[in-house]
Amino acid sequence: MLKRVLVANRGEIALRIIRECLDKNIETVAIYSSADKDSLHVLLANESVCVGAAPPSESYLNMDNIIEAALGTGCDAVHPGFGFLSENPSFAALCEENDIKFIGPSSKIIEQMGNKSAARELMMKAGVPTVPGSDGAVSDIDTAKSIAEKIGFPILIKASAGGGGRGMRRANSLDDIERAFDDARAEARAAFGDDTVYIEKLILSPKHIEVQILSDSFGNTIHLGERNCSIQRKNQKMLEEAPAFAFDHELRENMCTAAVKAAKACKYEGAGTVEFVLDAENKFYFIEMNTRIQVEHPVTEMVTGVNIVAQQIRIASGLPLDIKQSDVQIKGHAIECRICAENPIRDFAASPGHVNMVHFPGGNGVRVESALYSGCDISPYYDSMAAKIIVYGDTRVEAVRRMRRALEETIIEGIDTTLLLQYLILFNRIFLRGNYNTSFIEKEQDSLLELLRTATDIRGI
Ligand code: ADP
Repeated sequence: MLKRVLVANRGEIALRIIRECLDKNIETVAIYSSADKDSLHVLLANESVCVGAAPPSESYLNMDNIIEAALGTGCDAVHPGFGFLSENPSFAALCEENDIKFIGPSSKIIEQMGNKSAARELMMKAGVPTVPGSDGAVSDIDTAKSIAEKIGFPILIKASAGGGGRGMRRANSLDDIERAFDDARAEARAAFGDDTVYIEKLILSPKHIEVQILSDSFGNTIHLGERNCSIQRKNQKMLEEAPAFAFDHELRENMCTAAVKAAKACKYEGAGTVEFVLDAENKFYFIEMNTRIQVEHPVTEMVTGVNIVAQQIRIASGLPLDIKQSDVQIKGHAIECRICAENPIRDFAASPGHVNMVHFPGGNGVRVESALYSGCDISPYYDSMAAKIIVYGDTRVEAVRRMRRALEETIIEGIDTTLLLQYLILFNRIFLRGNYNTSFIEKEQDSLLELLRTATDIRGI
């Protein structure tokens, strides 16, 4: 079993991992930047090390300082959380070289799945359905044009190294393609230092459905069912639920089986997520695999009762999974709202600053994951996610009511947040029917924002 884990992250996910370790009597070492010295994760860990200045490149992305901190404090493992170095194969390799267990898959697997065009090729070979498109990377415009003509417009030109919706461009016709190709490559080069791109058909208004999987080092792979993460703005998820509602049993089985196949094809080890888009005819296609814990993992934990972070630690300790596929039963319904420090009325502009007062909801079926406290500061240097509020209900209707109630109880004073917008989504007819897709925000934005303005005015009276 692991004895001492360095948590190479900050915010709520660092807390989630530290708390899990505390529950298991594993010691923790927090790392922090100079901007985060008063953060909760620093207070909760057994020990903490400042790894650099506020900009992520100097601290949370500073591999040498983090490895030095792990070695200097006698850690036998590193948990990378999500974001930052969690999907960086060089960091995982550095851990391997220094005999520190990276809690996640090997650097080789991270590299293979992190290159989206290579991952796509691997999935094609394994018989996992992929979006029609190029076989691998596309290096010149003539090839791009001939592939586009074959699969039909509209198409997406996507960065192989892409993430967070960056390095992705749409082309509607042959006239558009050159510009889209050049723009996608330029953005990919700037954001990831790699301008390799590939082509996929653009699936119109798909659902984003993903499957949580767990694989141990003994070749056991299971899935924990799916999540619907289609409420997105600018390709960023805002609200997720498990299981996907209004879903056919056979479709669910097929998607989950394909996800297990995907994990087995890359000899996966750890907790991972296989992401699919689902079209209007209920055909699903692999888009990518995330080789880390995800923000929305709690909804799966709540409907399966499986502790995913505990399983990550178990797998990293070299133990086999202690659950079989037949033990996994999906029960009830869970919803998560990612409350971000952003102002939806001002095009989701970041709203860092001083948080005067925080009050989080409680009661039956409510879980809060957040590093906020009254009097803390939200730094402009990092991700804007301030809190995750997760609810469980026996039915979806109960979960929706409970989320409304939980958001009504929540107070975050001093900064703008997305909370009220998420509250309004919980009353939207399309959302309530449960059959929504990734166009939801775009289509509903005007009416939601109008309601939001009115609600904000009323609250100001
Ligand atoms: P990222 O790493 O940026 O999350 P993804 O490949 O997962 O990149 O795509 C992000 C989002 O973009 C998906 O959730 C989905 O909504 C949309 N998307 C990606 N590929 C396609 C596609 N071929 N057709 C339609 N939408 C897509």
